[in-house]
Amino acid sequence: MSKQKDFVKFENVDKSYDGKVLVVKNLQLDIAEGEFITMLGPSGSGKTTCLMMLAGFETPTNGEIYLGGKAISSIPPHKRGIGMVFQNYALFPHMTVYENLAFPLRVRKIPKDEADKKIDKALSMVSLQGFASRMPGQLSGGQQQRVAVARSLVFDPQLVLMDEPLGALDKNLRESMQYEIKHIHESIGVTVVYVTHDQSEALTMSNRIAVFNDGKVQQLSSPDELYEKQLIHLLLSSLVRTIHLMVKFQKYQVENVKLNLPMLK
Ligand code: ADP
Ligand code: MG
Repeated sequence: MSKQKDFVKFENVDKSYDGKVLVVKNLQLDIAEGEFITMLGPSGSGKTTCLMMLAGFETPTNGEIYLGGKAISSIPPHKRGIGMVFQNYALFPHMTVYENLAFPLRVRKIPKDEADKKIDKALSMVSLQGFASRMPGQLSGGQQQRVAVARSLVFDPQLVLMDEPLGALDKNLRESMQYEIKHIHESIGVTVVYVTHDQSEALTMSNRIAVFNDGKVQQLSSPDELYEKQLIHLLLSSLVRTIHLMVKFQKYQVENVKLNLPMLK
């Protein structure tokens, strides 16, 4: 079966929380089946709001979101087949690892035998076999986050949303988890929408990167394209600085020198 190019589709989506300011502005974005796409942007640029609308915890003010070709505005979150991982782990602290993973299966009324198999499989995917009876408080930050990843995948979702899932981890752990998540994505082929404000994380993990700014997608490109554009930008801006210095040195007026560098735009 061929992969759907617009497996997820944001069509003219606006979002306002207060009825005045738009925090997401006319978002148009197609996400292919099996793709790993990252929303990259500074804090407040609207990334989490987009995930929340896709997951069903917020409603678009205008526009529509489609999943697998169907408009989803009237489908409640637990019927959308979407797994989620948040920055703050959000495990249930009073439940064991097993119970945390069993929860999304119980909501979906999966029989216990089948649920146990899925839980085993999900725990082995994140290398945490043998941890089923631990409480979250008995796990390190990295282990807790791996449980959160396992929980988002345990019910075989069609789509997984990850909102800055590694933000609370230290650098080494973050890098090894980037690799683990990427590996899981490649091995099971699930569609992932990943959110981060960390550019190197986005460049490492993604098939495509949507650069967010002020509620809009400013650029949509592959990691290679994004990297090249930024390199060119960097080179050109240092070239401009050098020319300014040379002009100053020659005692010319900087204002009189006009540069035409279309690539900077
Ligand atoms: P990001 O995830 O990129 O940091 P958010 O989607 O969280 O951005 O926020 C975008 C804008 O929407 C921000 O200005 C934020 O303050 C505002 N916002 C986010 N969630 C809410 C909410 N529940 N109620 C009101 N405003 C919100
Ligand atoms: Mg956010």
